[in-house]
Amino acid sequence: MNTTSSFLTSTVQVMPPSGIRQFFNAAEADGDVISLGVGEPDFVTPSCAIEACKRALEHGRTMYTPNEGLTELREGIAEYLVAGFQLQYEPTSEILVTVGGSEAIDLTLRALISPGDEIIIPVPGYVAYAPLVQLNGGTVVELELSAEHDFKLTADALQMVITPRTKAIVVNFPSNPTGAVMTYEDWLPIARLAVSHNLVVISDEMYAELTYGRTHTSIASLPRMRERTIVIGGFSKAFAMTGWRVGYLCGDSQLVSAMVKIHQYTALCAPIMGQIAALECLRNGLEDRDVMKRAYDERRRMFVQGLTDIGLGCRDPQGAFYAFPSITGTGLGSQQFAERLLREAKVAVVPGHVFGAGGEGFIRCSYATSSDQLSEALDRMDRWLRTHAGADHGLPTLQNS
Ligand code: PLP
Repeated sequence: MNTTSSFLTSTVQVMPPSGIRQFFNAAEADGDVISLGVGEPDFVTPSCAIEACKRALEHGRTMYTPNEGLTELREGIAEYLVAGFQLQYEPTSEILVTVGGSEAIDLTLRALISPGDEIIIPVPGYVAYAPLVQLNGGTVVELELSAEHDFKLTADALQMVITPRTKAIVVNFPSNPTGAVMTYEDWLPIARLAVSHNLVVISDEMYAELTYGRTHTSIASLPRMRERTIVIGGFSKAFAMTGWRVGYLCGDSQLVSAMVKIHQYTALCAPIMGQIAALECLRNGLEDRDVMKRAYDERRRMFVQGLTDIGLGCRDPQGAFYAFPSITGTGLGSQQFAERLLREAKVAVVPGHVFGAGGEGFIRCSYATSSDQLSEALDRMDRWLRTHAGADHGLPTLQNS
């Protein structure tokens, strides 16, 4: 074995690189490629936030903030969560501002996992959960969600994977990659199971604002769930702030104060510019947020209809900004489908298998890109499917090639 790689822990050595990045990098390298690969808004951060940061820089605001985040920002988040999602958290002891939602996920897992703990991860699901559970010494238990249930979490499926070693379940609705959302009624039996088995719920609500025709329900708002739920949110998606790196977590003060201890040693604080921008978005950027959301909704309808028209059946994604069409009719595996689509039609999508077992047979397409790009991507996919498959999309040529 190469001597330097032998310095690494075995967990890191076997950790696969993100399957999403692979397609993102390929798309970046070729200017002709239309990328539906990465989950990132095509909008620029609301201008009020940019202007607020310019002013702050001119006043020399370049220092650390309190570990927990700027007090005004935590107060702003508390008000925002009450107004939008009926979630009540005390800003000074129950909210921690983090370096993106990513740090919030890692911190939560670090604080909760003891060796041998099992963490249930519904799949297809966001790619970071399993590697982070493993890095923190936990055991990943995948729970396969099914297309027949619109990729929602059901109590029957959850019950089957709970063991005496189960510590927590990670839930992410609206979902990356499926766009599924959960209603209050959907959550009720899940919440009952969490209480009866004394589970912690790690609720990644990065896309809470992006639901279409319905409002988001946090599992933390159900009876007896607040004390056992960590809510993770952020500014990356709804406020087009991916590069500023600001997120937050909320929960019971004993849990949050433990996470603050880790955070003060690992990150110290989230970047001050990001925090200033986030605060300004909460004060003056809500209209911009709503304009972006309306644009996603329009694109969502157009794109999902377009996918259906070209023969890639797609459930109606009710949240986030992803469509998750089935490609089983093509006879191709999702990796082969995505690689060939990229090479031959210059459209980058993410193969469903990277999101865990239940993702095979699907591809993830982000519609957080302009309508023109989406139309062009649909045309290219249609031509590619026809050329390689014949008009009925039976795809025998693809299968043999
Ligand atoms: N959680 C989910 C479900 C995501 O899709 C993402 C980013 O794609 C994140 C967390 C990370 O968000 P952030 O950019 O705030 O770290």
